[in-house]
Amino acid sequence: MTMSALGEPCVLLKLGEVVLKGNNRELFERRLQANIKAALKDVGVKVDLRQRHGVIALFLPEGSDAGIADAVAERVSYVPGLVWVHRAWKVAKDPSAITKAAIELLADREDVRRGVSFAVRSRRRDKRFPLNSMELDRSVGGELNDIYGLPVDLRKPELVVSIEVDRDEAFVFTDGQPGQGGLPVGTSGRGLVLMSGGIDSPVAAYRMMRRGLRVDFLHFSGIPFSTSESIYKAYALVKALDRFQGGSRLWVVPFGKAQQSIKVSGQERLAIITQRRLMLKAGEEVARRLRAGALVTGDSLGQVSSQTLQNITAQDDAVDMPILRPLIGLDKTEIMAEARRIGTLAISELPDEDCCSLLAPRRTETAAKVADLRRIERRLDVEELAVRLAGSLQEYRLDA
Ligand code: ATP
Ligand code: MG
Repeated sequence: MTMSALGEPCVLLKLGEVVLKGNNRELFERRLQANIKAALKDVGVKVDLRQRHGVIALFLPEGSDAGIADAVAERVSYVPGLVWVHRAWKVAKDPSAITKAAIELLADREDVRRGVSFAVRSRRRDKRFPLNSMELDRSVGGELNDIYGLPVDLRKPELVVSIEVDRDEAFVFTDGQPGQGGLPVGTSGRGLVLMSGGIDSPVAAYRMMRRGLRVDFLHFSGIPFSTSESIYKAYALVKALDRFQGGSRLWVVPFGKAQQSIKVSGQERLAIITQRRLMLKAGEEVARRLRAGALVTGDSLGQVSSQTLQNITAQDDAVDMPILRPLIGLDKTEIMAEARRIGTLAISELPDEDCCSLLAPRRTETAAKVADLRRIERRLDVEELAVRLAGSLQEYRLDA
């Protein structure tokens, strides 16, 4: 394979919903560019980023090989806001260079030897190019057909050869990988995820990051009545999720003593909801300090007894801040499939001592009444407790 015919390896990114933005589109684009640059620090490659209409081209340092381009493509595929990531070749902006690259690109492919159907799809962002898209399709497609003898299928080709003619250069590529979609992290403000070691809350965090929310993570541990295992788990989960936003912070509140006082107050059937409300109240206090505008939880309607409609209503009553519940309408199997895809399922399934098991009542009220909960909370002096819990916050830094 001669590098000269293929041109220079680069990465082409297709933007998602950002392109639908009107006046503030530039703001979204700038954020996306900054997020891409920050993500690529992990790869240690300094790319030259060029924003084109609906597309971002990442040019690699001179002499970069295909392996570097692969690593860059892999890393940016985690950055929300992109719908498609292509490993492409940058060639001179003329029909013969484009054709040569396309020919080279199909050499040594197993599917080409098998005789797959194919189509060439061209797009011009520079309309001054001597051939229009259809002419370019026909000309390159004809050459490929002569050389490889592949059947053309314009409707449902097995292999698509894409050509994009830009202002200063042309790109030629075949397959790509889907991006995360959604919006660039940071374009929807800031939120605080209540992060257990379970399966649901990491997926909830992912969903909100993908809608542009930058999130911090708050974990309540059973310390001093349980081990720090759950913290390690939360830490591992945050680390896995950090690929999507970068700069993640995990905050931990030792919750054991507060749970103890709920337990001894003797409210067995309401203990879980009381505890959940306390987590939310402390979470709201922490969120204010972090300048976050919303709490995020992994609740899914009806999944467990604390997530009935009445009990969710009782939780909303505990705080002023909105509680975002992106998984509310998802089935457990759907949540698990997503957890597997984003790489958190295996971590969530590790055994741990969840702080909630400290309470473990025999029965939980499925329709808690707010008036009852408030009465219990007055006795426990919950408002002050929540402030004290927020004050005992500890930060676990990912880079440490
Ligand atoms: P998950 O899989 O996220 O633990 P779950 O199905 O086990 O959820 P619950 O244990 O009832 O459900 O928790 C509901 C939500 O409350 C969680 O998704 C999470 O947002 C929050 N939560 C529960 N326990 C903790 C904890 N120890 N620290 C922080 N948040 C928690
Ligand atoms: Mg849980």
